[in-house]
Amino acid sequence: MSSEVSGSKIIAKSLYDLGIRHVFGIVGIPVIEVAEACIAQGIKFVAFRNEQAATYAASAYGYLTGKPGVSLVVGGPGVVHALAGAENAKANGFPVMLLAGSAESHQRVKGAFQQLDQVSVAQPYTKFAAQPASVPDVPFLMEKAYRTAYFGRPGCTYLDLPADIIQGKISTNSDSALNTDPGPAPKTMGEPNRIEQAVRVLQSAKSPLLIVGKGAAYGKCEKEVRELHSRTKLPFLPTPMGKGVIPDDDDLNMSAARSAALKSADVILLLGARLNWILHYGEAPRFDPNVKIIQVDIHPEELGNNAGSPHLGIVGDIGLVCQQLLQNGLSSYSAPPILKSIAEKRGNNIQKAEKVESEPDTGKPIKYQQVYKTIRESLGGIVPKTQNIVYVSEGANTMDISRTSFSLNSPRNRLDAGTNATMGVGLGYAIAAKQAQPDDLVVAIEGDSAFGFSAVEIETAVRSKLPMVIYVMNNSGVYHGVDPSAYQEDATKPLPPTALQLDSKYHILAESFGAKGYLASTLDQVKTATLEAVKSNQVAVINVIIDSGKDKKLEFGWMASTKPKL
Ligand code: ADP
Ligand code: MG
Repeated sequence: MSSEVSGSKIIAKSLYDLGIRHVFGIVGIPVIEVAEACIAQGIKFVAFRNEQAATYAASAYGYLTGKPGVSLVVGGPGVVHALAGAENAKANGFPVMLLAGSAESHQRVKGAFQQLDQVSVAQPYTKFAAQPASVPDVPFLMEKAYRTAYFGRPGCTYLDLPADIIQGKISTNSDSALNTDPGPAPKTMGEPNRIEQAVRVLQSAKSPLLIVGKGAAYGKCEKEVRELHSRTKLPFLPTPMGKGVIPDDDDLNMSAARSAALKSADVILLLGARLNWILHYGEAPRFDPNVKIIQVDIHPEELGNNAGSPHLGIVGDIGLVCQQLLQNGLSSYSAPPILKSIAEKRGNNIQKAEKVESEPDTGKPIKYQQVYKTIRESLGGIVPKTQNIVYVSEGANTMDISRTSFSLNSPRNRLDAGTNATMGVGLGYAIAAKQAQPDDLVVAIEGDSAFGFSAVEIETAVRSKLPMVIYVMNNSGVYHGVDPSAYQEDATKPLPPTALQLDSKYHILAESFGAKGYLASTLDQVKTATLEAVKSNQVAVINVIIDSGKDKKLEFGWMASTKPKL
């Protein structure tokens, strides 16, 4: 017998039949019915407070799971906010499917409610953007948008949902599945002659280096990359989100002598990282101008960019290509020992870092390194060895220093501001991580400025029952704070643009949402708060008042750049 089914039910069932069990977003007219239909269908709707954060969350869920996260938002301004997440997903190669409501088709050029040509607006940031013309088009387009987001280089796709489609009805006489899960993304192997060439080039290297990027983490290629590394003994460098693909604790991790390792390499095997600003374009002065870079990437257009050699690049899945390299000669290859100068530099830098972080608390304002050591050791004392910790970090110094302070021995355990240095991703990423991996401990280490972009999402985490520990590294400023006297009423100079309100009480803000709040300005307080926060198994915000760093100059080492050739 046929019955009337609503467009919103068709949308929800299309999502469910693709295998989707979580949707992140914010409701309003006309998508509230879609969210309700999703919940009725058995999909959890994680309701956010801002479309930016919701879409960041969906994209991190995509990065962690390897299948697109889904973000559902209202039209017009909702889409404009969500574009931040679309662009960030495109820049980072995270799979995400964005769905947004839009005005009824017949009102579209009349100045309708939240009117915007959303398909056109989404196009520059998406791999595919479309609008169904009728309810029966929905399952087909939903499947295409979902699959396109993660086949090939992952990114964002967009589907527009006009109100008349959401509210439309069709007559159907079947309960059968509207879609099927497209399964894992298909993988390709490398071209055989390029594999042989890569082996030859590596075998001839005097100072080879392996660089592991977040593509290797996203591709879940850790088993093959570790095997290649343990057979060849290649010294390696992870990019910030490539950390943990090979354990950070490995003796051949050159992170502590990063600059020297980059500069002295004559052959680089680059696994899933672009030669963008994070890797100084692969160019001099940070790299040897004659370095040969063997790039491995699933995206052919990436090969040869900047200092990459178009002749040496290999298109293929990192896991499969690593196996091919081993089968074609690399399994019997052993990298030459690392240069003495680099080994010394590495040893010295490790010692220096240990000294800085081990400074006792003498009553002076505490510093990042001391705080991070305290957090690391406190977590080490309370978190069972079998429990995975996902670290989320954003900010400037907060993020950079946390990268070196926290060793990662498993992949996909660091989510940070990423390719576009996007501030405001932290809370969304933390919520996504806890939703995707509920057994993990989620620890967010946030600069006070970065935290401010999405601080209200604490309420989302509390309401959604997603426990996590959030540290706000509070120096009352962007980059660094200013002298407290600058805040006095009679101060004559205006505050610098980097200043934030002195010692904001973020822990009290958190308490107002039902989270645990702690204030810590000594290492002992950081320790006690950490232990209590983890034990509470709730959302906890630890407001860590740190040295303002007011006497420091603003420096951006990574900006030291190459000059155009002409
Ligand atoms: P990082 O931030 O670590 O430098 P990037 O985001 O710049 O990394 O680069 C990641 C690269 O990895 C992208 O160019 C992407 O196409 C590629 N990639 C993603 N998954 C795979 C995979 N399974 N095999 C090969 N390359 C991959
Ligand atoms: Mg700050």
